[in-house]
Amino acid sequence: MEDAGLLSAFKALAENTVNYRHQMCKVYQFLTQHPDDADELSVVIDNPNIPASSVARVICENGFEISADTIKRHRKRLEHKGCKCPVKEAK
Ligand SMILES: [Zn+2]
Repeated sequence: MEDAGLLSAFKALAENTVNYRHQMCKVYQFLTQHPDDADELSVVIDNPNIPASSVARVICENGFEISADTIKRHRKRLEHKGCKCPVKEAK
């Protein structure tokens, strides 16, 4: 049945969307790989005076692939319109 194929394709689409929405962004994944330095790394990543491309380059050079756009999206979480990573309270 063609309809059944279409329906399951649509269901798969919906499931993938849900997965995507709940997926933590790559910056978060990167930070969880460096739990001891996460706070300090996060401060640099969020520093608007440092170009996102520079941050991305340094992270890539250290063996973790990430794009400047991902950094930008992560920074925008501070304005509640970027990724879904938790926003840390300022100390
Ligand atoms: Zn993020």
